[in-house]
Amino acid sequence: MTEFSSRVEQVSISGIREVFEAAGEDAINLGLGQPDFPTPDHAREAAVDAIRSGKVDAYTSNKGTRELREAIAAKHDRDNDLEVDPEDVIATSGGSEALHIALEAHVNEGEEVVFPDPGFVSYDALTHLAGGTPNPVGLREDLTMDPATVEDAITEDTAAFVVNSPANPTGAVQSPEDMREFARIASDHDVLCISDEVYEHQVFEGEHRSPAEFDDTGNVVVVNACSKAYSMTGWRLGWVTGSNERIERMLRVHQYAQACASAPAQYAAEAALTGPQEPVAEMREAFEERRDVLLAGFEEMGLECPTPKGAFYAMPKVPEGWVEEVIDRGVVVVPGDAFGENGDGYARISYATDLETLKEAIDVMAEATAAVR
Ligand code: PLP
Repeated sequence: MTEFSSRVEQVSISGIREVFEAAGEDAINLGLGQPDFPTPDHAREAAVDAIRSGKVDAYTSNKGTRELREAIAAKHDRDNDLEVDPEDVIATSGGSEALHIALEAHVNEGEEVVFPDPGFVSYDALTHLAGGTPNPVGLREDLTMDPATVEDAITEDTAAFVVNSPANPTGAVQSPEDMREFARIASDHDVLCISDEVYEHQVFEGEHRSPAEFDDTGNVVVVNACSKAYSMTGWRLGWVTGSNERIERMLRVHQYAQACASAPAQYAAEAALTGPQEPVAEMREAFEERRDVLLAGFEEMGLECPTPKGAFYAMPKVPEGWVEEVIDRGVVVVPGDAFGENGDGYARISYATDLETLKEAIDVMAEATAAVR
């Protein structure tokens, strides 16, 4: 019998899939973590042109094409007021690989990684796969992560902490003051801050700021992707930026595990980042309108829901049996405890679906709420 690594034995296949499979084929799916919009045409066209011209037949540089890395650097200048050297960028296979190589390059066996609970499922799994020990921390009432909680959780065994704003699954947006604090904590305790900014363009209230803006010790790495901003989840194109030394270490993992991000996706991403940004604004407006409709629905149902200020998720507190009742009635939602222990008693609702369908789902959720009360 083959022995499996203890690292992989500590991880299981995400429970979210099971929820989808439990629901019928005609179910309305409010469980998805991807925008319901097409990839912008100019990004698709750039990939088609690159394929036709034969530019994508070979490996690119391990870090990604110079043009893409310049586009990423220009994006950080435009959107984040951050000066990034194109040499300090690695194009990855989605934000997922960026998180993976960041943890793999910085976490020693048994070292701790602090992250939000409830939080994106990969933080726990990737920490285990890197040989580390997850240290999930609870959130404030408004579901943001308190820098003081993070600071309290840091010990001499802590390798890194993860900040995710806007957040999956909560939709919470950290304040600029929090981001400044996270940078200070990374510096004072000499631990790595991994800032996962994949939802940065979906902010409805407040503003997105990166802890990297406040970092002067090189202890912040930024993970981002085209996935959510440009509705390109299937293209698998993300990136990580950080100090030259950290990039060099992450490249060691990326080079051997991945060689380079998919070349057609790199050309599409370059076009998405440098081309017209209207599709990003249009998606944000649509999400905001849906969020407001959903929040009004929760209020009518009498469900308490911290106002999600970003991303495209809401996380209401729900009565016992609610998730099962909603799923039984044909609407897929994800139980909050899929995102960590503290998610118990909540549900994650993704509103990446058209308004009409969302309204239908709200009616079903209202009936389910009445049935379990
Ligand atoms: N980070 C967060 C918070 C996410 O929600 C996701 C995807 O759902 C990712 C990273 C990974 O994104 P990608 O599809 O680019 O790998």
